[in-house]
Amino acid sequence: MKKHDFSWITEPLLSWYDRSARILPWRENREPYRIWVSEIMLQQTRVEAVKPYYERFLNKLPTVAALAQADEQELLKLWEGLGYYSRVRNMKKAAIQIMQERGGRFPDSPEELKKLPGIGDYTAGAIASIAFQKCAAAVDGNVLRVAARLAAEREEISRPPLRRQIEQEIMRAMPKERPGDFNQALMELGAVVCLPNGAPGCSVCPLALGCVARREGIAQKLPTKPKKKARKIQERTIFLLFSHGNIVLRKRSSTGLLAGMWELPGVEEKLSVREAQDMLNRWGIRASACQPIGEAKHVFTHIEWHMTGFSAVVRGSVPAEMCMVSQEKLHRDIALPSAFRAFLPEIEQGFWRMSVQQREEEN
Ligand code: SF4
Repeated sequence: MKKHDFSWITEPLLSWYDRSARILPWRENREPYRIWVSEIMLQQTRVEAVKPYYERFLNKLPTVAALAQADEQELLKLWEGLGYYSRVRNMKKAAIQIMQERGGRFPDSPEELKKLPGIGDYTAGAIASIAFQKCAAAVDGNVLRVAARLAAEREEISRPPLRRQIEQEIMRAMPKERPGDFNQALMELGAVVCLPNGAPGCSVCPLALGCVARREGIAQKLPTKPKKKARKIQERTIFLLFSHGNIVLRKRSSTGLLAGMWELPGVEEKLSVREAQDMLNRWGIRASACQPIGEAKHVFTHIEWHMTGFSAVVRGSVPAEMCMVSQEKLHRDIALPSAFRAFLPEIEQGFWRMSVQQREEEN
């Protein structure tokens, strides 16, 4: 048998899937729009965490036509907490393309699907196979891990030539009558049995008998991962500026990290209390003394923000590129990136202090 011959897995894998497939909202039917939304959400988040986002998104934007017409801020708010906002922006671009160029009809082949913004090999294969029953590979990290272990592959399986070879062998094992179920079964096995961290569940695995890594006792050591580059550390100082029942926010630049998102104003350096006060003066903001509110860290894929926070009460106006936002608007309309989540308790406290102050002034 060839090292990467997976032809033997089809029958035991599908029988297991028929018995054990999880009931998930995006498996209720095979509508391509629903599958697309779930696949994009699942690229960055666990199944359990995705469920409420998925229900909310589908309730607000039930069709590709609704997504194409969605307001940008509403869209970002629906995505708040999932991160990687460029993905939902690409979804909107793709929805517009589907409406304008295809009369609202979803492409059904991987090649056509890949012409849409934000749809790569994996997502195209998932939509084509699950929604349209096309034989197309949908190989994500879960599937690669299962494949590496089944074949006891010690090379880095994410290297493009090896990955392509694995994809071809998986395609050979894919039954023409059930490609979508086959792909989902492989992903499911990786997600609930052949787990990434800790010991895989070989004792309950439907593929245990033919799995070489299990036989050789090396399953937990595979797959071999490429050495990760150290993330860049960026020091930042963040300001919570309050004014007459509002908090001051600023829009980020339209390119780069968190492009076009609202943020707490800040600078890319760690400032002392004195320097923070000077920075507010330099921005032309008259404010009370800066109060330190602690430090927080946020990890992105390639960079870490190490943030130092200060709060202050603004006396007067703020520069044109900043705007004041009420507590209600912040909760209802603004998608504040998760990077600033650590400061949410201080934000809420600031709003509370302002409301108490206002009540006292009224009395
Ligand atoms: Fe993974 Fe174990 Fe199953 Fe092999 S036998 S595929 S290592 S869970």
